[in-house]
Amino acid sequence: MHEMSIAMNIVNIACKEAEKDGASSISNIELDVGKLSGIMIDSLQFCYDSVCKGTLAEDSTLSINELTALAKCKQCNDSFEIDAFMALCPNCESYEIEILQGRELKLRAVSVN
Ligand SMILES: [Zn+2]
Repeated sequence: MHEMSIAMNIVNIACKEAEKDGASSISNIELDVGKLSGIMIDSLQFCYDSVCKGTLAEDSTLSINELTALAKCKQCNDSFEIDAFMALCPNCESYEIEILQGRELKLRAVSVN
């Protein structure tokens, strides 16, 4: 499962950070997840709980900031919100768009005890 390996990676990185800081445990991990990242948030939450067992992140919570997807039209420079990779510019109907935001998967913050 895709989300399982993502959860393992996140918890791994967060635990290393917490260890470096000499923390006894992690209380919260904050993530940015873009709408076009292909990640199922429910599934990630579920995997997170099982991956945390036996680590510094055990009993921690996962906060996910879901980022909307934004694109800019290469023809008319208009920017707009999209919900798929293939989208039409609402202004000039061009398909030549550049995705500005929405593919993110970023570890934003790790709160430790
Ligand atoms: Zn346009």
